[in-house]
Amino acid sequence: MPIVQERKNRQTGAVIQVLDNRDQQHFEWDDDYPEKWWAVCVDHGFTCSHDTRAHAVGWASEPEMWCDECRRIWVNKNKPVCEP
Ligand SMILES: [Zn+2]
Repeated sequence: MPIVQERKNRQTGAVIQVLDNRDQQHFEWDDDYPEKWWAVCVDHGFTCSHDTRAHAVGWASEPEMWCDECRRIWVNKNKPVCEP
């Protein structure tokens, strides 16, 4: 699957790729997502798939929305400071 974008996310430090799946190949670990564009967290192995490249690229910049590990890092970084 061709990689059309690879970026290190500023919030979580994870490398996020956008993959072109228009030829409808699948990841070997998951046959259930035939969407055409994929955002992949390389560091943690989470993915989300989309119908359009614009959506995949948009979600790729927010891995805390779909990668459990990125969410954990993001939540820890963005924890509100509770001071009396
Ligand atoms: Zn991640």
